[in-house]
Amino acid sequence: MLKRVLVANRGEIALRVIRACRELNIETVAIYSEADEDALHVNFATEAVCIGPAKAALSYLNQDAIITAALLTGCDAVHPGYGFLSENADFADKCAENGLIFIGPDGETIRKAGSKAEARRTMVKAGIPVTPGSDGAVANAAKAAEIAKELGYPVLIKASAGGGGRGIRRCDSEEELESAFAEARAESRACFDSDELYLEKLVLDPKHIEVQILADNFGNVIHLGERDCSIQRRNQKLIEEAPASALSAEIRKKMGDAAVKAAKAVGYKSAGTIEFLYDPVSMDFYFMEINTRIQVEHGITELISGVDLVKQQLLIASGLKLKLTQEDIHLKGHAIECRINAEDPQFDFRPDCGKVNFLHFPGGNGIRVDSMLYTGAEIKPYYDSLAAKVMTYAPTRLEAVRKMRRALEELTIEGIKTNAELAYEILYHPVFLRGTCTTAFLPENLDELLEFSAKLGEE
Ligand code: ADP
Ligand code: ADP
Ligand code: MG
Repeated sequence: MLKRVLVANRGEIALRVIRACRELNIETVAIYSEADEDALHVNFATEAVCIGPAKAALSYLNQDAIITAALLTGCDAVHPGYGFLSENADFADKCAENGLIFIGPDGETIRKAGSKAEARRTMVKAGIPVTPGSDGAVANAAKAAEIAKELGYPVLIKASAGGGGRGIRRCDSEEELESAFAEARAESRACFDSDELYLEKLVLDPKHIEVQILADNFGNVIHLGERDCSIQRRNQKLIEEAPASALSAEIRKKMGDAAVKAAKAVGYKSAGTIEFLYDPVSMDFYFMEINTRIQVEHGITELISGVDLVKQQLLIASGLKLKLTQEDIHLKGHAIECRINAEDPQFDFRPDCGKVNFLHFPGGNGIRVDSMLYTGAEIKPYYDSLAAKVMTYAPTRLEAVRKMRRALEELTIEGIKTNAELAYEILYHPVFLRGTCTTAFLPENLDELLEFSAKLGEE
């Protein structure tokens, strides 16, 4: 078994990993930036090391400093969480070179999956449906125009190294192509230090459905069902649920099988997610990407499966065989997650900072809150705006929805603006209640939802 794990992250996911380690009697080393001295993960870990200044490039992304810290504190493994270095193949390799177990798939797999253009090719070879698009990367706007003409507009120009919804531009006609291409390239350079772009046909009104998988170091791969993450703003998820109520048993099985196949095609190890787009009209689904890490929304799968995914990651990294087989996975009930971000939806979702003067989290039967907040905690501008994940679990979808409404009524975060009122409004929308939201739902209804939620905020 692992003895000491360095947690190369911050915020709620650092806490999540530390908690799982504690339950398995594994010691933890937290890293923190100068801005995070008072952060909860620093307190929760067995030991904590200040790794650099606030700027992520100098702290949470500082590979050498993190590896040195792990070695100096006697760690045998590194858990990267999500974001930051979690999908950085070079970092995974560097860990291995220094005798540290990287808790995730190996560098080679991350590389194969991390270039999205390349991953599409691998999936085509494995017989998994992908959206019509370019075969690999596209060198320039002129080439893109040729391919787009064949595909038919609208198309998406996507950063091959992309993540978090960034580096994606929609393009409706040839006239728009040059500027859209330039914009996508600029964002890809700025966010991912990469020039590589590729093209996909835009799937109209799709659902975002993703499948959770677990794989050990011995070639055993299972899936733990799917999540519906269709409620998105600017390609970023806001509310997720499991299972996806819109799927037939047949499609669900096909998607699960395709996810396992996809994982095997890249030699997957650890926990991962295979993302698909699902067209509810034609009932076709298409591979979109593999996220080679624990995902923000992993908790809702834990609620319906009873499997602790982070513990499974730790056991797999310890070199143990998966004890679970596909037949052991019995999904039960319904779970929903609302991401509570420190941002002001009324002002174009601009991130909000400040001190949390008073905090109350919802509780009671069927509720889970993962957060790094406490009364007195300060939200600073340097990092991601995710402040809390509120999850509910109940036997049926409607009960889980009702529970979430109650949970958000109870939630009190004073001192910073959040998107909680907006989430609350969504929970009453008839399209949401029918379970038929596609990724177009939030953009199409945002103005109306914001109008109502503004009134809520005044109450
Ligand atoms: P998930 O499906 O797990 O939500 P996301 O793509 O939204 O995946 O990313 C998870 C988290 O990591 C988000 O908080 C996002 O802001 C952050 N993130 C994603 N990609 C990057 C990146 N390249 N650099 C820094 N943070 C990232
Ligand atoms: P990221 O790595 O940033 O998460 P994804 O490739 O997973 O990027 O796409 C993010 C979101 O963008 C998806 O969840 C979906 O809403 C939308 N999207 C991506 N590709 C397509 C497509 N071909 N057609 C329609 N929507 C898409
Ligand atoms: Mg994605």
